Amino acid sequence: MKSLSKLVALAALTTAGAFAQMAQPMVSENTTQISDHVWAIMGFPNIAIVVGGGATLVVDTGMGPKNGATAARVAAKLAPNNHKLFLTTTHFHPEHAAGEPGFPASTILIRNTLQQQEMEKHGQEMLDMFSKGSAQNKELLAGVVLRQPDVMFDQEARIDLGGVTARLIWFGEAHTQGDELTFVEPDRTLISGDVVQNRTIPMIFGDGGTPSTWLAVVDKIAGLNAAHVLPDHSAPGDGSLVAAERNLISEIRTRALALKLQGMSADEAGKEVSAALKTLHPDWPNTNAAGFVKSVYADQQ
Ligand SMILES: [Zn+2]
Ligand SMILES: [Zn+2]
Repeated sequence: MKSLSKLVALAALTTAGAFAQMAQPMVSENTTQISDHVWAIMGFPNIAIVVGGGATLVVDTGMGPKNGATAARVAAKLAPNNHKLFLTTTHFHPEHAAGEPGFPASTILIRNTLQQQEMEKHGQEMLDMFSKGSAQNKELLAGVVLRQPDVMFDQEARIDLGGVTARLIWFGEAHTQGDELTFVEPDRTLISGDVVQNRTIPMIFGDGGTPSTWLAVVDKIAGLNAAHVLPDHSAPGDGSLVAAERNLISEIRTRALALKLQGMSADEAGKEVSAALKTLHPDWPNTNAAGFVKSVYADQQ
């Protein structure tokens, strides 16, 4: 019965509002190694820890300061001799960014300018929305004040962690406007946020990107030639996840545009495309593409 109710809960995940109501697991102390220099705390979301010879980078914070503090503690345990800690966020949503106040004050916070602007515009609104989602969220997010980054960049920033380089990249708008990707060299590990996921239907929230801009971003990511991919809400995989994401978005887009041309409403098309995806991918936890189909209908390109 437990798995059935879990499936029902997943099927309801069509809006960020529903997302906010999910029970939010606390950030765990356990890590999984993704590549030579990259570890992950698997959860909601997956948090990446990139360890170099002299410094450590954490990507994403977990929901609220208590979780952020756990992530920082795990990072310190992985590399006790690294005294420099960087933090970046894949996008401004609370489970990814609102744990920042739990990190040590000396942490160097870095993110792209567009993501910061989005946070200033919609950050508080998202905190309020997530806080209403559950009593646990409310407690985790109570009193959170989002601070200014120490460093901002437009397209790319390179952080030398000592024998390891983290390339923080903004390639364009997708799930949000300020989606940030981290590419770790020499591992060729991509920390992909919501932009490249594993067996997961894409979702554009609020005034994020469009299906066309998302495809353009994935095309640029393909040029990185990643060997490992760590998404934020699904299982890690190899570089083939990038092509799979492209195929999935194209598939939904092509089907939805054909139905639009036939004069079908966006709601009806959403049901039809979701059913087709369920047949194609019977093993996926959720194939509800209603939201993304709406994004295709609204896309002017
Ligand atoms: Zn998000
Ligand atoms: Zn998220």
